[in-house]
Amino acid sequence: MLELQRAGAEARHVVRIGSLAIGASRPTLIAGPCSVEPTYVEQAVALAAAGVDALRAGVFKPRTHPDSFQGMGLEALPLLAEATRRTGLPLISEVMSPADAEAIGDHVDGFQVGARNMQNYRLLEALGDIGRPVILKRGLSATIDEWIASSEYVRRRGNHDVVLCERGIRTFEPRTRNTLDISAVVVARELTDLPVIVDPSHAAGRREWVPALARAALAVGADGLLVEAHPSPAEAWSDGPQTIGLEALADLAELVLDGRRR
Ligand code: PEP
Ligand code: MN
Repeated sequence: MLELQRAGAEARHVVRIGSLAIGASRPTLIAGPCSVEPTYVEQAVALAAAGVDALRAGVFKPRTHPDSFQGMGLEALPLLAEATRRTGLPLISEVMSPADAEAIGDHVDGFQVGARNMQNYRLLEALGDIGRPVILKRGLSATIDEWIASSEYVRRRGNHDVVLCERGIRTFEPRTRNTLDISAVVVARELTDLPVIVDPSHAAGRREWVPALARAALAVGADGLLVEAHPSPAEAWSDGPQTIGLEALADLAELVLDGRRR
C-alpha cells in the first residue's frame, strides 16, 4: 500500500466551487442532466427551483461507443452562460483533455474528471496548473489508493481543490450498472483531507435505486451527492434510465437540508 495519509487528515479541506463549500459542515447536492441539451436553460431553472446547490451537465461526453451522442461540444457554451445567469448557481462540467479545459474554462466553476480519465495524468496536471476546483471520479476498476494517487497529480501542481467522487466500481454483479463502494467513502475520508462525494446515478443505472443509494452515501458521511436529474428523464439524450425527475430531486434536496441541521 502506498503511504498516502496526509498529516492532519482530521482537519478537512473545504473545496469552494463558486458559492458552494464542499466538505464544510453540511452535505451538498450537485445535480443536472448527463449532457447539455438544447433545452438546458429551462432545465437548469427547474432544477434550481427543486433546491440543488450546483448544476452539472456534460459538454463533452466520454461515451463507451463512438456512435453514441458525444455531447453538444462548444455549441453548448452559450447555454451554460445563460443557465448560470438565470440560476446564479455554480456549474460543473466534464473535461477529457487539457484542450477541453481551455475551451470551457471560462464558462464553468469547476471541472469534472470522469471515471474513464482518472488516470489521464497529463489532464490532471493541466487541471492542477489551471487551478480551478476538480471533481475527480473514481475509475471503473481503480483501487482507493490509485484514486487518491491521481488526486495528488492535481495537488502537486499547487491546486488542492480536489473533490473525490465515488461512482461505483466494476464487479461481477450485473444487476446494477456498477457496484457502489460505500466503504470507499469512509476509507478515502480517513486517508485524505479531501471531501468525498457520491454519484449514486452511475452506480445504480436505474433511477428507482438512486434515492436509497443517496441515503446510504449520506449515512456513511459523504460530503455531498452528484446526481443525474432532468425535468423529463425519459427524454434525456444520455443516461435517461438512471436520471431522476424533479420530485425525487426535491426529496434529495430536503434530505441534504436535514443533513445540514444535524
Ligand atoms: C457522467 O458523470 O455523466 C459520467 C460520464 O460519469 P462517469 O465518468 O462516472 O462514468
Ligand atoms: Mn452520465
